Amino acid sequence: MYSDLGLYIDGAWRKTGSAGKSEEVINPATEKPLAVLPHAAKSDLDEALESARKGFAVWKNTSAYDRSNILRKAAGLMRERHDAIAKIMVMEQGKPYAEARMEVLTSADIIDWYAEEGRRAYGRIVPGRGKARQLVMQEPVGVVAAFTPWNFPVLTPARKIGGALAAGCSTILKASEETPGACVEMVRCFADAGLPAGVLNLVFGVPAEVSEHLMLKDAVKKISFTGSIPVGKHLAQLAAKGMKRTTMELGGHSPVVVFADADPEKAADTIAAFKYRNAGQVCISPTRFYVQEDVYGKFVNRFTEYAKGIKVGDGLEKTTTMGPLANARRLDAMDAFVADAKDRGAKVQTGGTRRGNQGYFYEPTVITDVPDNSKIMTQEPFGPLAPIVTFKTFDEVVQRANSLEFGLAAYAFTSSNATAAAIGDAIESGMVGINSIAVSTPETPFGGVKESGHGSEGGSEGLSAYLNTKFISQM
Ligand code: NAD
Repeated sequence: MYSDLGLYIDGAWRKTGSAGKSEEVINPATEKPLAVLPHAAKSDLDEALESARKGFAVWKNTSAYDRSNILRKAAGLMRERHDAIAKIMVMEQGKPYAEARMEVLTSADIIDWYAEEGRRAYGRIVPGRGKARQLVMQEPVGVVAAFTPWNFPVLTPARKIGGALAAGCSTILKASEETPGACVEMVRCFADAGLPAGVLNLVFGVPAEVSEHLMLKDAVKKISFTGSIPVGKHLAQLAAKGMKRTTMELGGHSPVVVFADADPEKAADTIAAFKYRNAGQVCISPTRFYVQEDVYGKFVNRFTEYAKGIKVGDGLEKTTTMGPLANARRLDAMDAFVADAKDRGAKVQTGGTRRGNQGYFYEPTVITDVPDNSKIMTQEPFGPLAPIVTFKTFDEVVQRANSLEFGLAAYAFTSSNATAAAIGDAIESGMVGINSIAVSTPETPFGGVKESGHGSEGGSEGLSAYLNTKFISQM
C-alpha cells in the first residue's frame, strides 16, 4: 500500500495546499500514477515559517537530553515501520527492496547517532589574560530550510533532520516531489515520537518557487541543499542575499584508480557492485574508471561479467538487483552519453540501450576506449554507465583524476601502503575510499570540495553545521 501523502505544518497534516495545486507521483517501474501530491501555496509556506519560528523557541529551550530521547524514539519507529517505508520507496523511486530497506535502517542509525552527538555539543572555557571568564558556547543556528532530491528519499532528509534537530534547530524540509511518500512516513515517525509542533515541517511544491520564497525570509538562518551543481550555485546566490549559512552537497564524478599491484578481479567485484547500486543514481557513485595497463584486460572482463549478471526489474520482485531509473529524464541522459561516446570511437562492452518499452529501465552498461574529453568522462552520468580506460603512471592518473571541477568522492585499489598513502594525499576530493567503498557512514563526515559543494553531513562536522559559536567574556 502506498503512502497517505500530505503537507506537515505546525504539527498537523494537510491533505491539500490552500491554492489546491498538486502533482501526480509516478511509479518508474510501470510509469503508472501512484498518488496525487498536494503543493504548498505561498500562504502555506508562510504558515510553515511561522510554525518553525515558534517551534525553534520551544526546541532550543528543550534540554539536549529530552531532545535526544525524542529523536531516539523516532529512530525506533522507523525501524518498526521499515518494511512499509521501504516498499513505498521502491514504488516511487525504483531501487530494489533490499537497498530501500537498508536505506531506512541506516537512516534510523543516522538519527540515533545524532541523538547522541547532540548531547555532546560541548563548549569550552578558555584561560584568559585578565580576570574575565572566557566561555565558548555552541548555540543552534535557528530555522533551517532543507531541500532534498529523489535518489535517497529517506537517507538525505535524515542527515539534515538529524543534524538540525539534534543541534536544537527547527526545520522546514522540502523533500522531492517525485519521491515524497517514504519521506512523509519518516516525518510521521517524528510526529508520533512526540516532537513538539513546529519543530519539523514538511512541504512540497514547485522547487524553485518554494526555495526562493523560503530562502529570502529573515526567519530562515541556514540552508542545506542536496542536488545538482547548477541548482546549488543558484541557491548559494540566494543565500548570500541574507548572508545565510549553507551546506551544499552537490554532484560528483568519482574517479576510480586501479593500480597494477591490486587484485583486478577483487577490485572489479567490489566496485562494480557499488557502481550499479541505485542504478548508478548516487552522488558518490564510481563514474570514471582508470585502470593501469597491466591489469586492464582482467578488470574489464570481470566488471563486464558482473554487469551482465545483474537482474534488471521491478524493485519489488525478489530476484531484482537493479531497478529502473527514477525518471524519464535519466533515460534521455543515458542515451545522450552513450551516443556521444560511440561518436568518439568508444566500444560498448555490454548494455548501452533502454530495456523494454514500459518503465524507465536501462541496461547496466560498460564502455571502453572512451576519450577523456567525451561527455561521459566530463559530466556526471548519474546512471548505470561505467566508462573504463587505461593509464600508465601515478602522476598521469592523478592529473586526469583531478582535472574536473568535481571533488566529492574518489576510490583507489592498491596493495602498496606507500601508494595508498600517496593517492589518498594527491586526490582532490572530499572523501577517498582506498581498497574500500565505505565513505558514507553516520559517524564520518560526508561532503565535497571544489564545485561538489561545501560543508559536511555526518560526523561531529554534521552537527557543527547547525551550531553557531558564541564567545562570552564575563567579569
Ligand atoms: P535538477 O537539477 O533539476 O534537480 C536536482 C534536485 O534539485 C531535484 O531534487 C530538484 O527538485 C531540486 N531543485 C531543482 N531546482 C531547485 C530550486 N530552484 N530550488 C530547490 N530545489 C531545486 O536535476 P534532476 O533531473 O532532478 O537530477 C539530475 C541531476 O541532479 C543529476 O545529474 C545529478 O547531477 C543531480 N543530483 C544530485 C544529487 C545528489 O545526491 N547530489 C541528487 C539528485 C540529483
